[in-house]
Amino acid sequence: MSGLRLIRTRRDLRAEIGAWKAAGLTVGVVPTMGALHEGHLSLVERARAETDRVIVTLFVNPRQFNSAADLAAYPRTEVEDFERLVPSGAHILYVPDPEDIYPPGFATTISVGGVTQGLCGAFRPGHFDGVATVVAKLLLQSQADRAYFGEKDYQQLLTVQRLVADLDLLTCIVPCPTLRDGDGLAMSSRNRRLSPQERDLAGALPRALFDAAGRIAAGEAAGPVLASAQKALLAAGFSRVEYLELRNAADLAPVETLEGGPARLLVAAFMGEVRLIDNVPVTTA
Ligand code: AMP
Repeated sequence: MSGLRLIRTRRDLRAEIGAWKAAGLTVGVVPTMGALHEGHLSLVERARAETDRVIVTLFVNPRQFNSAADLAAYPRTEVEDFERLVPSGAHILYVPDPEDIYPPGFATTISVGGVTQGLCGAFRPGHFDGVATVVAKLLLQSQADRAYFGEKDYQQLLTVQRLVADLDLLTCIVPCPTLRDGDGLAMSSRNRRLSPQERDLAGALPRALFDAAGRIAAGEAAGPVLASAQKALLAAGFSRVEYLELRNAADLAPVETLEGGPARLLVAAFMGEVRLIDNVPVTTA
């Protein structure tokens, strides 16, 4: 019999966690927007290995969508998600009612500066305010000792690390590597929205990214490498490249060389209607 419990209210969640804490158990949380895939499950597995009790949260956060159409199209597969989590060993799937996250009169927004500038921050106004606000709430509601975030959403990861440091939140943020399909495409809930043909073409994204990262790491000038990678993406069937940028890996400041330390190459591009993001490290050998 499964030990996984579905909890929908903050009150029930608090009661459960109170009992765990009283027993001296540590708590890990894995915040998600559902439509779970192996990438999410790798975070759960890590949480299971490092904490006594694991909460997976599923909340499609309206405040981090800057487009109503994107929010409406976001896949919702709660029943399947529960089934996928059963063998993972997670203890609670927390699917809060929107009112448990944003009660009537809710009027607080957390806005993180610095790392949220540019990249997704430039193309999705308000997105990281929505992320920071909901993550702060989920960390506090779950009272987690450790929270697991994917490097797949690298700018989000750094935003959450900044949030926790700046607000003295007690949760340790654990970065987890990006899981990829066989052709290198980063697993993502959004991949479900690709047609089979688009899914095939999308493999060009990680190929262009890894190729460009390798060339920059080998000493080629970033400007021309990125220009040719962008061309390659458009030639491969991407309709639009929102950004393809080299940034400092620690603070996301724009960089042109690796002189200031490890860098990260980050991309957002549209395959048909679907916006895909990815990023890879760029370091000298
Ligand atoms: P999401 O449901 O897309 O909001 O993602 C929930 C968490 O899973 C975030 O911390 C993501 O960075 C992480 N995640 C999403 N895709 C992957 C992946 N392919 N590999 C590892 N982590 C991922």
